Amino acid sequence: MDEIAAAELSDKFLEFFNEYYIDRINDMYLGYPKTRSLMVDIKDLEKIDHELALEMINNPDSIFPPANAALAKLNPNPEAKENVYARFYGIEGSPLIQDVGSEYIGKMLTLDSLPVKRSEIIPKVAIGVFKCTFCGTTIKIKMERETVVDLCPQCKRRSLKQDNSESHFTNLQKIAVQDPLEKLKGSTPTWQLEVWLEDDLVNTVTPGDRIDITGILRIRPRKTTKGKDDKMLYSMLFDAVSIVHKQKEFTDIEISKEE
Ligand SMILES: [Zn+2]
Repeated sequence: MDEIAAAELSDKFLEFFNEYYIDRINDMYLGYPKTRSLMVDIKDLEKIDHELALEMINNPDSIFPPANAALAKLNPNPEAKENVYARFYGIEGSPLIQDVGSEYIGKMLTLDSLPVKRSEIIPKVAIGVFKCTFCGTTIKIKMERETVVDLCPQCKRRSLKQDNSESHFTNLQKIAVQDPLEKLKGSTPTWQLEVWLEDDLVNTVTPGDRIDITGILRIRPRKTTKGKDDKMLYSMLFDAVSIVHKQKEFTDIEISKEE
């Protein structure tokens, strides 16, 4: 997407936020930077722009940056640096977790989920600071998933080293989720999906909670036996956008209700 298209999209979101969410956005900024997330019902977006809502579900990676940029523009503090997130939720017609497959790669969906495992907090570099060991040049880069940095822009040598004391870190946590038991009508869940929680979503989920997770399905190469990236086989991971808590899972009660 070019810059003009992104700016137009951002204006659309600005209009949408002003129309539907301005009170909640003002509340969020009262608590900023502790509160940096705005929960947004995708049905509200559907009401004013059905096509845009559909595009967000099918192509979230191009639609989220302009949406988050629009939210950041509403920050009354022009010096603000911490990220803000439009956390969309409530996509209907979601599959069972055990049926999530390649047709959903790159798309956004909402999964009715039972978390079963939770990892420790993993620090992840958000803004990397690199220093050239040869000429001393320092550069700052916003790290994306695939960013590889080693070439010095000044002396053109591959001599950049990351400076961890200057880099800006964010938190990452992995959880595993499965289908809630009553949805499987008595059969045992056999499949778990890995979910990545970032930044303020970390530590908001406990195993046994009952949650709707909205997120983007991604893949990454599996490792071959020699430790190289496999070109054919990929594993799936679910990059969380929002979490909505429902009631706790009371297995016995749920099962007896079914009968
Ligand atoms: Zn250099």
